[in-house]
Amino acid sequence: MSKTMAINAGSSSLKFQIIEMPEEIVLAKGLVERIGLNDSKFSLEFGDTEIEFTQDIPDHDVAVTILFDQLAEHKVVDSLEEITGVGHRVVAGGELFKESAVVTDEVIQQVADLGEFAPLHNPAEAVVMRAFKERLPHASMAAIFDTSFHTTMPAVNYIYSLPYEYYEDFQARKYGAHGTSHAYVSRRAAEMLGKPYEELKIITCHLGNGASITAVQNGKSVDTSMGFTPLAGVTMGTRTGDIDASLLPFLMDKLGITDVNEMVNILNKKSGLLGISGVSSDMRDVENAAGEGNERAQLALDIFVNRVQKYIGQYVAVMNGVDAIVFTAGIGENSATTRAAIINGVTTFGCDIDPERNNTRKEAIVSSDAAKVAVINIPTDEEMEIAREVERLK
Ligand code: AMP
Repeated sequence: MSKTMAINAGSSSLKFQIIEMPEEIVLAKGLVERIGLNDSKFSLEFGDTEIEFTQDIPDHDVAVTILFDQLAEHKVVDSLEEITGVGHRVVAGGELFKESAVVTDEVIQQVADLGEFAPLHNPAEAVVMRAFKERLPHASMAAIFDTSFHTTMPAVNYIYSLPYEYYEDFQARKYGAHGTSHAYVSRRAAEMLGKPYEELKIITCHLGNGASITAVQNGKSVDTSMGFTPLAGVTMGTRTGDIDASLLPFLMDKLGITDVNEMVNILNKKSGLLGISGVSSDMRDVENAAGEGNERAQLALDIFVNRVQKYIGQYVAVMNGVDAIVFTAGIGENSATTRAAIINGVTTFGCDIDPERNNTRKEAIVSSDAAKVAVINIPTDEEMEIAREVERLK
């Protein structure tokens, strides 16, 4: 029996799970939030026990120390030797990492160097990898990149219509994100349909606080809605998705903003469902407000649905067909009304949702028997996918 930790470090957070492998049983999970800010929060859940406390945690290295102290104090593991594998989610793998990689000092340095592509994430992830390597030198460690699944995209879909030298000189191109999730749900969809993954055209809709749509053809990502960074694509909780770049200088002038990073921060943090509705970035709040007659909340919902529909249309064109449309992540898995609203607007492609089957949050084919395109609900499990990658690379 061996225990594998799946680690997901963000700019100010660290999510973790401890999974018994190969049985795939989740033994414990938790989260450190507000790292580097005051009143950081630590939470840990295992069996029937829930632990939560607030304390200042100045950086990710200290967060890892506290995590191991807590695991020992509450006897979640008898000894650190039991942890034989660790998988780290990494946001940007650039063109370098086409697959998950065994973590070496060189890989950690490369992840840090790719910080230019994900300044809020990669540097923190490199720190966390180093911290784990020091504390668990015996464990097999793997880096699992959000971008790897999309490295199969053809140039026609990842090259921007900019001077070509910018790609050659600076690797300015589309990379996409959420690869672990798109890979997991597209493979699972093929299993559920009982058809070879390598022969299917699948559109995967990962609709969470961050959202992205991917065209998966013959088992490979061929196009995806996020871009150079996770800001592009569909409308998200706080992110704009696609907009006309000329709006930046126009709005900076109107708002008296001189630092372009401040403007980009608005596109990342104050836009999307939050910006349109003025209510919240959380879909449940927006749905509730719309239900109470809030027109801007209703508009936010309509725009969200519309942008996903447009990407579905694009990807039917990109693949010249579609066999299945998959929904996953917080909104995709849980909001039957959003799924129905999206699919009911694209029935021309041969989709037809069955309202009764769609009334679920579980793994299920939710299209009608008459439908030519299967619509499938699949709760994503990025942590399990990470743990499987660690096992595979051991
Ligand atoms: P994620 O980033 O995958 O955790 O997804 C978070 C998003 O899922 C938030 O916008 C939540 O409001 C949304 N969400 C979670 N449960 C539901 C639900 N039952 N109905 C609608 N949206 C939901």
